[in-house]
Amino acid sequence: MILLCAVWLHSNACQNLFCTQNIHSKTIIQSEQLNADQLFKQFQEVVSQYDKSKPLDVVVIDPGHGGRDKGCSGASSIEKVITLQISKRLKTLIQEQMPEVKVLLTRSVDKFVSLKTRATIANTNEADIFISVHCNYLRNAAKFRGSETFILGTDSDNSASEQLAIRENESIALEDSYLDHYDGFDPLSPESYILFSMIQNLYLDNSIVLAQLVDSEIAQITEVPSHGVKQGAFVVLKETKMPSILVETGYLSNADDEALLTSSDGQSHVVTALLNAIKAYRHSLK
Ligand SMILES: [Zn+2]
Repeated sequence: MILLCAVWLHSNACQNLFCTQNIHSKTIIQSEQLNADQLFKQFQEVVSQYDKSKPLDVVVIDPGHGGRDKGCSGASSIEKVITLQISKRLKTLIQEQMPEVKVLLTRSVDKFVSLKTRATIANTNEADIFISVHCNYLRNAAKFRGSETFILGTDSDNSASEQLAIRENESIALEDSYLDHYDGFDPLSPESYILFSMIQNLYLDNSIVLAQLVDSEIAQITEVPSHGVKQGAFVVLKETKMPSILVETGYLSNADDEALLTSSDGQSHVVTALLNAIKAYRHSLK
C-alpha cells in the first residue's frame, strides 16, 4: 500500500526510506515500506474495545521526567521536581473532591520511569484519561512565556511543537534497548513519527475536549498566559490507549513563569485549573 504523508522531518538519519532530506524540512514522502496491514489490525482491535462515553472512573497523572532524566532547568528550578509537585497536589485534590474517581501517578518519587512504562501504567489500570505534566524551555528567548496543551498529532506547520516533542521524547534514549520496547520506534528516526496519530485518532475527539478544557481553565485561573491547544508527536501520548494530553505548564526559561511554577500559590492555581478541567470533562461525558 502506498502511503502519502506530510511529515516534519527532524533528522537526516533517514536515507533508507526517503530519497533526500534536509534537517527540519517539510517533505512529502511516498513509501511502500510502512506495514499498513499490521497497523490497521492493531487499530481494529482497539476500536472494538473503546466506548467513547464511558464514565470517568480512573485518572492517571504523569509527572514528566524523573531520576536521571531531569527535563529542562530554569535559573533555580528543575522540571522533574515541579512536575512531581504539581502532580502530587493534583492527585490529593482529586481524592478530596472526587473521591469516587481512582487517581494514580506514574511516579510518586524522584525516579526514572520509561515513557513506555508510564503508558503501560495507564493502560493496565484502564485509565479513562491520561494527563502528562511538563514544563517548557526556550533557549535564548527569556521573555517568551505561557502554557500549551498538547494532543497527539503531527503539526507540520509548527516546527516549535515538533522540536518540543523531540526534546520530550529524548528520554527514550536513556532507556536500555529502547528499539525493542517501542515496537521499533526510534526517536531519531523520522519515519517513526509518521505512524503516531493512527491509534490516538480514535481518542482524538475526547482528547481535544479535555485539552480545550485544560487550556481554558489555565487561561482563566492562572497568571500564565495560554498559547492554546496544539498537536505534537509525543511518544508517551502515542502509547496510551485512552484520551491523553500533555500540558506544558509554563516556561522555566522565563523568570515570571518559573517564579509561578515554583511557588505554592502558582502551583495551586495550576492544580485547580487541571482539577476544574477534569470535573468539566467528566460532566461532558454524561
Ligand atoms: Zn518535559
